[in-house]
Amino acid sequence: MRVSARCIIACAVFPIFLGAQAKPDARIEMLKAELARSIDGRAKLAQQMVDQVFSFGELGMQEVETSKYLTGVLQQNGFTVERGVAGMPTAWVAKWGSGSPVIALGSDIDGIPQANQKPGLSGRIPMIVGAPGHGEGHNSGVPLNIIAALAVKDIMTREKMSGTIVLWPGVAEEQLASKAYLVRAGVFNGVDANLFAHVSDEFGISWGDESALTLISAQFKFSGTASHAAGAPWRGRSALDAVMMMANSWEYHREHMELAQRSHYVITDGGDQPNVVPATASIWFFFRERDVERVTKMFEDAKVMARAAAAGTFTVLDTVQVIGSAWRPHMNKPIAEAMHRNAQRVGMPAWSADDQVMAKAVQRLMQQPDSGLTTKVGPLRTPTDTPAGGTGSDIALDLGWCELSVFGLAREGGRTSSFNGAGGSADALTHVTSRFGIERMMRELTRQVQA
Ligand SMILES: [Zn+2]
Repeated sequence: MRVSARCIIACAVFPIFLGAQAKPDARIEMLKAELARSIDGRAKLAQQMVDQVFSFGELGMQEVETSKYLTGVLQQNGFTVERGVAGMPTAWVAKWGSGSPVIALGSDIDGIPQANQKPGLSGRIPMIVGAPGHGEGHNSGVPLNIIAALAVKDIMTREKMSGTIVLWPGVAEEQLASKAYLVRAGVFNGVDANLFAHVSDEFGISWGDESALTLISAQFKFSGTASHAAGAPWRGRSALDAVMMMANSWEYHREHMELAQRSHYVITDGGDQPNVVPATASIWFFFRERDVERVTKMFEDAKVMARAAAAGTFTVLDTVQVIGSAWRPHMNKPIAEAMHRNAQRVGMPAWSADDQVMAKAVQRLMQQPDSGLTTKVGPLRTPTDTPAGGTGSDIALDLGWCELSVFGLAREGGRTSSFNGAGGSADALTHVTSRFGIERMMRELTRQVQA
């Protein structure tokens, strides 16, 4: 689906001029108008990049061509690129400029399994059956961040403005796998504001706690003993039995969990073929709840069931591997307010009749009301608008926890989030991380729990 550049740009660009928000400055107002024109003037490049990344459709940690292409565009435009960041081959950081403020722009780049799709069609028609594709719009975010960065860079150069623009990709977002590692690797140290963009049908700008759930993604691997399933089944110990017993235990347990929980699993290894008793089997769970305590309890309960399943099937719980996690999002208020003012100023894109026809066709395909695309910028969402208990999780947004302190450095002086406890220094991150739980997440993420 065609995506508007301006949606993201309005959010991404203007916080650089946060200092001017308190009293409107004629020069800043003029520059903002110029930025909007400059962004519109890059519509062709936006379309090319969005389509090019769509064509790659690579899964998490395999975004090889995607990253090569996007960093190539950035290098051609004067950015310095560091690749293989935080030990992830497809992660990178691109920088331009110098000095303060340091504004980081992030967006996801990975695809979804089996989401391959012919572009521009409202029907479900894959180009290659079974291949991955961009089912969640992750082809659009970084290209539009690049458009924003190039437009700002031009003006900063001409006006001799100090400041550093940092671009980074959300590698393997679908596996909730990468962003905490970027934090730990120090990618965001010294960053004044981190602006994350995700495709949506609206300007979804909010501050404070978001409704998305805290999540732990973990895989449980069992090992048994192979044997011929017909010739000598008594010699075998089926690891698949353990997987199925664990899954069944979880289903019985589900009745006794709180309503807000979400949990789901797939069997990633169920053996090779029916006549061989599976010597290995694995089950991959997502546990979601409202907060760290509840989601950790779910994970601990699952470990008890995994051990019991192994005992009951005379197999071994080989490994419990934490694949990723996402904490409940928390967003900064002054920056959200500044973004929202700019979103209102720019307005929603002027959708063409074709855009609306396409959107309505997709909505009907998904059996949703065919209301078409939104034409008005919605209100800024506050924590009271977003009570806990949403159904998704987003690892991008848990970065908000560690950037509380960073946001305190924003050019609005004392105006910071009410949750800001870091005293306005990036060095004070340790205090904030322990206070809000991200430290535990980091520890948990790296832990390979031996059963
Ligand atoms: Zn996404």
